[in-house]
Amino acid sequence: MIVTRFAPSPTGYLHIGGLRTALLSYLWARRNGGKFLLRIEDTDFSRNDEAAARAIVEAFKWVGLEHDGEIAYQSSRLAIYQEHVQKLLDEGKAYRCYMSREELDALREEQMGRKERAKYDNRYRDFTGTPPQGREAVIRIKAPLEGTITVQDGVKGDVVFNVADILDDFIIARSDGTPTYNFVVAVDDALMGVTDVIRGDDHLSNTPKQIVVYDALGFTIPKFFHVPMIHNSEGKKLSKRDGATDVMMYKTMGYTPQALLNFLVRLGWSHGDQEIFSMEEMLSLFDPSHINRSASVYNTDKLDWLNSHYLKNTPNEALCALLEFHGVMLMDHDKREILLDALKDRAKTLVEMATLVSEILVTPASYDEGALKKGFKAESREILATFSDAMSSASELHLPTDYHHLMESVVTQLGIGFGKIGQPLRIALMGKLSGPGLDTVMAIIGVEATQERIAALLNR
Ligand code: GLU
Repeated sequence: MIVTRFAPSPTGYLHIGGLRTALLSYLWARRNGGKFLLRIEDTDFSRNDEAAARAIVEAFKWVGLEHDGEIAYQSSRLAIYQEHVQKLLDEGKAYRCYMSREELDALREEQMGRKERAKYDNRYRDFTGTPPQGREAVIRIKAPLEGTITVQDGVKGDVVFNVADILDDFIIARSDGTPTYNFVVAVDDALMGVTDVIRGDDHLSNTPKQIVVYDALGFTIPKFFHVPMIHNSEGKKLSKRDGATDVMMYKTMGYTPQALLNFLVRLGWSHGDQEIFSMEEMLSLFDPSHINRSASVYNTDKLDWLNSHYLKNTPNEALCALLEFHGVMLMDHDKREILLDALKDRAKTLVEMATLVSEILVTPASYDEGALKKGFKAESREILATFSDAMSSASELHLPTDYHHLMESVVTQLGIGFGKIGQPLRIALMGKLSGPGLDTVMAIIGVEATQERIAALLNR
């Protein structure tokens, strides 16, 4: 069975890059009928970071990714780690090191003076004497002294690390007994039965150390897939300046979960030149061995494009529900269908759509000066008054086409072009010269509101 996991360090929110690796891990587990686990890596152990976990769970809920089983908190697994440290001590695969801070600093200075890499010199590796008085010990693992460690990575291929360049007998437990990061990650992944580790390639350099832990404890090494980072357009690691990094900000900005997930799956993975993937398609097509080898570039236009696609294809009822988060309540509005049909094609985000809705439903509080200058002429008054009167005597005004026909008959009657009525009417209705079709706007707000808005402009 394929078991994957997402293992965020608690930062207070779910990072967009984190959601991407979580999604890939989720897809791979679900596609194989496996398990997708969630582990909070609160390795400073000072607190059980429930707030951070809540933020992550909330974001998972919003995008619709479900994890299996309980959330594992590293802070509540201390006894497990200690037991495994002890096992390594008992088997002579780890040892106590009594080196003081001063000695360690002196060693480092000496090595740097010789322009060497700072590393532990193994002085307690085979120590059998009496420990120095009053010194607290850290626990170090016996790492290989020479040769290479190969990470067989499903994305990068075989990555060979030279032991002499990257390893030493690294600390697995501090003097206060708390275990260190690479030790707990390896122990947890092994004990939780994780078969496939899909994570950011910023963790690639940790992997040889984790492999040392796997080997020492006799655990099976999982498959690794290190996903290249998301970059900005300048080729640097994505930062807050390039776009929101907090997943829930995307909800606030009016993106749909489908668009965001589709956007993220394409940042790092492709299937031919297909751009649009439903969750079902992602689930049937995703394969981590097709993850791109090079960094992907974050592109807001692409996200907007996907979001418009999903908005266009969202049924109106669902759209209503989504708009409620943005303060727009349309569930019981009798013109909801015409309204949403008219706006679906125009908005890139739910926020834009919510703005358009209120521009239509709410009488303009003011009129755009430029629009007035351009579109409200000496004769506009007369034209609008005539149109307003014509509305009162018209028998059937319901559909956009009814309003359109009325406008046509007024321009014919007055012998004017369509623009002569269109522009001032648009200003009366929307306060500016842009917006959806006037016939549609009038059909949505109805005769009375249209007449009121005309009157308001004329009495201004
Ligand atoms: N906790 C690590 C992070 O948030 C991830 C570790 C892993 O995936 O192995 O960057």
